[in-house]
Amino acid sequence: MTAQRSPQTGNNLDPWYHHYAERAAGLRASEVRALFAVASRPEVVSLAGGMPFVAALPPDLVVSAMDRVMRQQGPVALQYGSGQGVPVLREQILEVMALEGIRAHADDVVVTTGSQHALELVSKLFLDPGDVVLSEGPSYVTAMVIFKSYQAEVDHVPMDEQGIIPEALRQHIKRLKNAGRTIKFLYTIPNFHNPAGVTLSWARRLEVLEIARTNDILVLEDNPYGLLYFDQPAPEAMRSVEEDGVVYLGTFSKTLAPGFRVGWALAPHAIREKLVLANEAAVLSPSSFSQLVISEYLATADWKGQINTFRGVYHERKNALLDALDEYLPDLTWTNPNGGFYVWVTLPEGLDSKAMLPRAVKELVAYTPGTAFFADGDGRRNMRLSFCYPTPENIRLGVRRLATVLRDELDL
Ligand code: PMP
Repeated sequence: MTAQRSPQTGNNLDPWYHHYAERAAGLRASEVRALFAVASRPEVVSLAGGMPFVAALPPDLVVSAMDRVMRQQGPVALQYGSGQGVPVLREQILEVMALEGIRAHADDVVVTTGSQHALELVSKLFLDPGDVVLSEGPSYVTAMVIFKSYQAEVDHVPMDEQGIIPEALRQHIKRLKNAGRTIKFLYTIPNFHNPAGVTLSWARRLEVLEIARTNDILVLEDNPYGLLYFDQPAPEAMRSVEEDGVVYLGTFSKTLAPGFRVGWALAPHAIREKLVLANEAAVLSPSSFSQLVISEYLATADWKGQINTFRGVYHERKNALLDALDEYLPDLTWTNPNGGFYVWVTLPEGLDSKAMLPRAVKELVAYTPGTAFFADGDGRRNMRLSFCYPTPENIRLGVRRLATVLRDELDL
C-alpha cells in the first residue's frame, strides 16, 4: 500500500522532506554528480570527471590474483574479516607509504572502503555541528559534502602555485579563534591537488605542520595522487615528519583500481582505535575479498612497474591538454601539475564557468565549474579540466570545442 503523506509534513517533491535529520540537508547531488549523467554520453568529450584510466591495467593481473586467492584462501576471502583490515595487507601498505617517506607500524593502519570512507569516519569522530574545518580553497568536492553533512563549516584558506599559503592559514586561524569558533582539523591535499593541480612545497609542509602544532589543530593529509608524479616525485608526505598530529589517508583507487574500494587511514594510536570501532560500526569489516586480491597482487605483480605505466599515460595526457590550451586558448591561465589528474583554469574577467556549462555541453564538451569546489559559491571564473580519462586526441578535440564556446561568450 502506498502511504499518503500529509502536505504539512512533506513537500511536493519529497514527502519525507520534514522528517530528515538536520545533517541530511547538506546531502544534495553535487554539481559533479549531476554532470556525470550528461557527460557520459559517448559523443561528449568529458574533461569533467576524475575516473582513473583503468584500461591501462592488464586484466590478467587481476584475474590471476583473484584465481589464486579463491583457490588458496577462498573461505577467508568470502568471510567477514577484521574491522581494522587484513594484517598482511596492512604490512604491505607500509611498503607503499615508505615510497613517500613514511615510517609507521601496521597496527596504526586502518583499511577502509576507499579513502572516501576514511574521510567519513574521521569526520564522524571529530565533527560536531558548528565546528570549522579548514581546507584549501578550492577543495575536493566530496570531502566537503561529508564535512557539511556533519554540519561543520568549511573555511577556505587561499592557495597559490605552491599550495596553501601559510600566512593566510595563520590569519584564518586567528580570526576564527577570536570569533570563538572551534577548529577541528585542517583538511589538505598536498600532492597534485584536486582540483587545483598544485603541490605543497617542502618548506610550506613544515610551516603548515608547525602552525597546526602550535594551534592544536589536527592535520588530515589526503594523498590519493602522490605516486602518480610526472617528472619528479612530490616532496615527502607531511606524515613523514609529524606522527602525532597527522591522520594520513591513502588509497589503491588511482595506483590500482577504484573498483576494489580499498583505501586506508594511518592515524596516531588513540585515533586509530576509535577509527577501528567506527569502521566496525559502519561496515563490520572492509571487503575481505578485495583486500586479499590486492594483497596477492602486491605480493606477485610488478606493482611499481604498473604505477609507472599509469604515470606515463597521465603524463602524456597532461601534455596533450596543456599543448591544446596553448594552441586554442592562449588567453586563459592554468596550473601545470607535476602529477595527478587535474588542471585548474582561470577564465578572463566577466566569464562565468557555471553559466557557460550548458553551452559547452551543447558543443559536446564537459568540464567541472570552479564553484563545485568552494563551499561559499566562489570559483565562477575557474574550471577544473581532468586529463585522466579521455585519450590525447579526444582531449585536443575537447579543448577545441571549449575554445569555440569561449570565443562565442567573449564575442571574439
Ligand atoms: N580524496 C581525493 C582528493 C580524491 O580525489 C578522491 C577520489 N576522487 C578521494 C579522496 C576518494 O577516493 P577513494 O575513495 O576512491 O579512495
